Amino acid sequence: MSETNPSSKKTASSKVLKLAGVKGMNDLLPQDAYRWEFVERTVLSLAKSYGYQNIRTPIVEHTEVFQRGIGEVTDIVEKEMYSFEDRLNGEQLTLRPEGTAAVVRAVIEQNLLYEGPKRLFYIGPMFRHERPQRGRYRQFHQFGVEALGFAGPDVDAEIILMCARLWDDLGLQGLRLELNSLGNEQERKLHRAALVTYFESHQAALDEDSKRRLLTNPLRILDTKNPMMQDLVTAAPKLIDYLGKESLDHFEMVQFLLKANNLPFRINPRLVRGLDYYNFTVFEWVTDQLGSQGTVAGGGRYDPLIERMGGKATPACGWAMGIERVIELMKEQGLGGDEPAVCDVYMVHAGGQTLEPSFVLAEQLRSAGVDVLVHASPDGLVPSFKSQMKKADASGALYAVIIGEDELVQKQAQIKDLRGTGAQSTVSFDMVFDQVIERLVSGSDER
Ligand code: ATP
Ligand code: MG
Repeated sequence: MSETNPSSKKTASSKVLKLAGVKGMNDLLPQDAYRWEFVERTVLSLAKSYGYQNIRTPIVEHTEVFQRGIGEVTDIVEKEMYSFEDRLNGEQLTLRPEGTAAVVRAVIEQNLLYEGPKRLFYIGPMFRHERPQRGRYRQFHQFGVEALGFAGPDVDAEIILMCARLWDDLGLQGLRLELNSLGNEQERKLHRAALVTYFESHQAALDEDSKRRLLTNPLRILDTKNPMMQDLVTAAPKLIDYLGKESLDHFEMVQFLLKANNLPFRINPRLVRGLDYYNFTVFEWVTDQLGSQGTVAGGGRYDPLIERMGGKATPACGWAMGIERVIELMKEQGLGGDEPAVCDVYMVHAGGQTLEPSFVLAEQLRSAGVDVLVHASPDGLVPSFKSQMKKADASGALYAVIIGEDELVQKQAQIKDLRGTGAQSTVSFDMVFDQVIERLVSGSDER
């Protein structure tokens, strides 16, 4: 019987098991959050400076949104999606693996393009069932822009220049722009035929994935990461040699505008991107500093997509950036600075009656835009000033304001400079607010 089994007794009395997070899905801890906030602030102001507006779609969509919006024969739809059946109504749902398909679904459903073209951006988590490794996670985050309803190459150039400005704003260096044109459907068809003939004559050199793609989506063979196939792929027929006048003109105008803004780039004929609805311009921003996960952002023009998703035929282009990879790169390059202070002012008090003036002052300071932390202890008791001062110091605050029993009687507070001279002065209650503000202002002039 189990009751007499000593090991089961032990289990019953042992601690409750800790729960683990899902593999490949990370917690973002406070010591890293400030870098994320910096990136988030930077992309928000970038979007604003180009006139792009925020759109927020749900995390979950009908699976069909991504099947149609990304294409059946893609890594994402074939093997990376988190899809499930809604137990209550049997709907097939998917955690969004990328932003574009969902934005396009929303824009069509909400008739957003009725008033004319739209410049939009989104930011948020995406989900892909991939093998977790550095720079590759199962929940990751993207910032992306979509320019919907513009056919010209000027907008391709605009969204690329936007990326370049973002790297500048973040202080990132060494990101290279790779560019290609996928032409139109007719040109891709001709190229595809040449590609199939070429790869068929080299069947023996193809890996399993490529043999399968030869039948489904031969262009994607060019995208292979298999080192054994690199020579074969380099010598394959190039799409750019199949482009007609319209496609070439479009591509040249993009390049012209990039050059006019002194933005260097490399034309990479093997750049095909993962999705099969891209046309004309495609691009990626890559770095050597992140190992094999070196693509930080990618995008291009996808004129056929909106119609394919049930909307009125509308040209469009966009890009998406992986925030984790950007943050990794910032760390590599020592960017993002030191962890900021938790607060500007740390309130040290003696509990009881001293809480009242401490709380009132803290609220006044917060109303004036000062970040204030009022000491609190896990046990609800009030520790010695010495131990509170240690906490004040560790918080990174510039000043501690101290209101003890004696101070309360005298209606005074102490202001202690925690970063500079260490000087401490006694100030009456009615002056303490002004004094703290004055010090913060003059201190920030010096800094
Ligand atoms: P990769 O070739 O690295 O798989 P991708 O072509 O699948 O990238 P996109 O769908 O173009 O990537 O997504 C745009 C960006 O999002 C990528 O350049 C990358 O920075 C980021 N990204 C994509 N998948 C992941 C992931 N699993 N984990 C972290 N970031 C990712
Ligand atoms: Mg991928």
